[in-house]
Amino acid sequence: MTVLWLGATQAQSLPPPRIGDQPGFTRVVLDLPKDTPYTLEPLGAALRVSLPGQSVAPGIHFVSQPELAGYVLEQHEDKAVLILLTPQGVTPHSGYKTMTLAALEGNGQRLVIDLSGAFVDTSPLPPPPGFRFVKANGRRFSVVVDAGHGGPDPGAIGPVAEKAVNLEVALRVRRLLQEAGVEVTLTRESDTSFSPDKRTDLTQRVALAEGKHLFISIHANATVPAQADGWCGLEVYYFGPPGARPFFPPPAPLTPTPPAAITPSPLDVLTTLAQPGVLDPGAQPGPEDVNPIPPQSLPTPTPQMNSARRMELSRTLASRVLSYMLGATAAVNRGVRSSDFFVIRYASVPAILVEMGYLSHPIEGQNLRDSNYLDRISYGIARGVLEYLENHHPLD
Ligand SMILES: [Zn+2]
Repeated sequence: MTVLWLGATQAQSLPPPRIGDQPGFTRVVLDLPKDTPYTLEPLGAALRVSLPGQSVAPGIHFVSQPELAGYVLEQHEDKAVLILLTPQGVTPHSGYKTMTLAALEGNGQRLVIDLSGAFVDTSPLPPPPGFRFVKANGRRFSVVVDAGHGGPDPGAIGPVAEKAVNLEVALRVRRLLQEAGVEVTLTRESDTSFSPDKRTDLTQRVALAEGKHLFISIHANATVPAQADGWCGLEVYYFGPPGARPFFPPPAPLTPTPPAAITPSPLDVLTTLAQPGVLDPGAQPGPEDVNPIPPQSLPTPTPQMNSARRMELSRTLASRVLSYMLGATAAVNRGVRSSDFFVIRYASVPAILVEMGYLSHPIEGQNLRDSNYLDRISYGIARGVLEYLENHHPLD
C-alpha cells in the first residue's frame, strides 16, 4: 500500500505538458485547475509561461519537433515556469497562438499553446511611410522584376500554383517601385512564358536585364512531403558558390529610420543549431562567416560591371530585401544564401532570387494565398530594393 502525503501548503504538482504533432505546428496542452492565471512572454528563441501559485516537477525534456526543440520546467518560490524552446522563433506577433478550453473531464481547464514559425502577421499592412524618390545620377533607376515560371511551367504546387503567387507579388512590387519613381520591366504580366523550352525562356528573361540596374526574380518554394510540415520561411539567393554559408540579417523595422547593422540575433543562432537538417550543417550566422568566393567560381566578367563587384552588390541587395521582408511579415528567417540558379548567374547586373516561403507547408502555403500577406511580402521586397538603391548601388 502506498501512502501519499501532501503538505497542507504545497500545491499538487501539475501533470507534465502534453505535446502533440499537428500538420505544420506543435500543440502543447497544460492541464490546469479552473481559472488558473498565467502569463506568456515571447523571448525569440523561447516562449516563457508563468503559472503563479502552481507547482511542477523541475526538469529538462527534449522533444525535437521542428517547432519545439524541448521544454524546461522550473519551480520558483511563488510560481511554476514552463519554458518552451522554439527553434522557429516567437515574437509578440508571430510564432504562437493560445486558447483556453474547459477540461474534457472534471472541473479544470486546458491552456492550449500552438507553436509554428508559419503563424505570422496577416493583418492589413498599416499605411507605410512613403517611399522616397530615388534617382541614379539624373536618370531613373531601372529594375527588372521576374515573376518566376508561367505558361506551361506552373512551378511548385501547393494550395495555389507558384506561378500565380509569383505574378501577384511581381505586379505589387512593380506598383510600389513605380510609385517611388523607379522604372520597372516585368518579364511577364500574365500567365505566359517566352518559350516552352526552359533554357530559352530563362535566357530571354535574363536578357531584359541588359542596361538596367537590377534583376529580381520572385519565387515560392516547396519541399518533399517528408519535410513539408517543418520547412517554412524566407530565403534570398545571390549568385555564388553553393557551399558558402548562409547569413541571417535581422528584421528591418518598417519605419523611416535606417536599418541596423547586420548582426546575428540569438534566435538565428538557435535556429541554425536546432535545425541541422534544414539549414546548412555547421552554418553560423554573421557576415564575417560567409566564405570568400574562390576566383575560379566567378562568372565571366561583363562589360557592365566587374563580376566580383556584381556579386558583392547582389549579396548586399539580398540582405536588404530579406531584412525588410522579415520586418514586414515576422516570417522565419532562413537566411541569405548563395546558389547558381540560372537567372542570377547570367544576369549582367546585381541580381537576386527571392523565395517567399514554402507552398508545401500546411500553414505557410495558406499564408501565400492571403492578400494581406502578399501585400506585406511585396512591401518588404520593394522597400529593400529602394533602400539598396539609395544607399548601396554605385552611381554610374
Ligand atoms: Zn520557382
